Amino acid sequence: MYFARQKFLVAGLSRSGVAASEFLLRRGAEQVYCYDDVEEGSVAQSAAELEKKGCRIVHKEELKQAAEECDVLVLSPGIPIDHPLPVLFRRARKRIAGEAELGALFLRCPVVAVTGTNGKTTTVTMIDGILKSAGFDSVACGNIGKPITACCERLGENGAAVAEISSFQLETLLSLRPHIAVVLNVSEDHLNRHYTMENYVHLKARLLRNGTESEYAVLNYDDEIVRGFAEKTKSKVVWFSLRERTEGGYRENGRLCFRGEEILSCEELPLEGEHNQQNALAAICAAKLMGVGNETIAAALKTFRGVEHRLQPVGEVGGIRFIDDSKATNPDSTLKAVSGVRGESVLLLGGKDKGEDYAALFEGIANSGVVHAVLYGENAFRLLSAAMKRGFHAVTLCRPFDVAVRVAYLTARPGQNVLLSPASASFDSFRNYEERGERFRQLLEIFRAETERAETEEEKEEKEAADEK
Ligand code: ADP
Repeated sequence: MYFARQKFLVAGLSRSGVAASEFLLRRGAEQVYCYDDVEEGSVAQSAAELEKKGCRIVHKEELKQAAEECDVLVLSPGIPIDHPLPVLFRRARKRIAGEAELGALFLRCPVVAVTGTNGKTTTVTMIDGILKSAGFDSVACGNIGKPITACCERLGENGAAVAEISSFQLETLLSLRPHIAVVLNVSEDHLNRHYTMENYVHLKARLLRNGTESEYAVLNYDDEIVRGFAEKTKSKVVWFSLRERTEGGYRENGRLCFRGEEILSCEELPLEGEHNQQNALAAICAAKLMGVGNETIAAALKTFRGVEHRLQPVGEVGGIRFIDDSKATNPDSTLKAVSGVRGESVLLLGGKDKGEDYAALFEGIANSGVVHAVLYGENAFRLLSAAMKRGFHAVTLCRPFDVAVRVAYLTARPGQNVLLSPASASFDSFRNYEERGERFRQLLEIFRAETERAETEEEKEEKEAADEK
């Protein structure tokens, strides 16, 4: 894309919008207009900084005029493609690109792109770690938090971009041709944004559409939808599976293997849950295709500590283990958590509703180690209704999060887990899932302090009673 004589309108000033604006300025765009519906807080701060650097901040009443003037709309992943602004650009037959698309146009190094409903961040972090230990100048970027436009110019031929790509980004990502495209799984999520499952599946398949015989598609053989993607790509397909001995990555006799060679045993992988073995297999396939040796892969995976808020044990009080899986924002990720976690659990479930069906969720919960579910948040009654329909009666409903965590703690017995794996977004009460996870940890600390205080007081009383005697 030629930037010098073009005017851009960047809509949405979160991290990727800011990075895109700065990138456009660096690449000599004639004019960069920046707009966000929100004009306060951190957005106002970003806007002021961008203005100092040469961008023009557009307010609501000026938006139509700016849209008419601009040649290209750079749309933040947070803004849906059917929002009036992109509709206006489409009608005028003008280009719409996402931040990831701008970055992709300038990447000179091999790209390993990872998509899927769940497991993207975990798998991207695994691949990035392996590539770094193999000596690549690798960067984990994209949806994981580091915008592609912030690193694409730096990465040279010895570089590798391991890009996490979400369905939101795929709406405006047209020209990316990853050397290796990994698709982990596709299950129901974000239907409030994409409307139908068909649309969502179609978007996920887009990652593969530019592939040729020279590229690879690493696909999950165990996921029926992903298996179907093999027919939609010209890339060479490399499968991974927990169930079948495939031509690529597979599990056999408790070992993770690639094309007849053992890489490491499942026990050596420090993460709980079969889904993490799937993620590791996907990472093994990608690393092998990048030419990394077995020992380097095994060493990196054996020391992988996981990513925060993903099925992460965060502490114990009174023999009750607290597990933070706040990133489980859809039913499938929670199903994986309840089936993957060791022992019995009291499950904390709820938050912002995204329109998913919870019937399968309670079917899975009823057949897992979950002994009780505490339902909270905006969707508590929808969850309750699904639980009752399934005949799962071991539930308590209490809407505020803090109360729900306390109830879960009081319900759990020593040896059991309190598992925060909400199957819902966090936006009804929190800024994001990280804040929800942090609050869960704070509450654990409060319970710990209360227990210690109670123990000290008990000891004091016992001592006083003994002294009186
Ligand atoms: P994403 O980046 O796709 O949201 P994460 O790695 O952040 O994926 O994990 C999100 C949630 O999904 C966490 O709760 C995690 O425990 C769960 N999860 C991780 N990998 C998988 C997988 N392969 N299948 C299903 N759930 C998964």
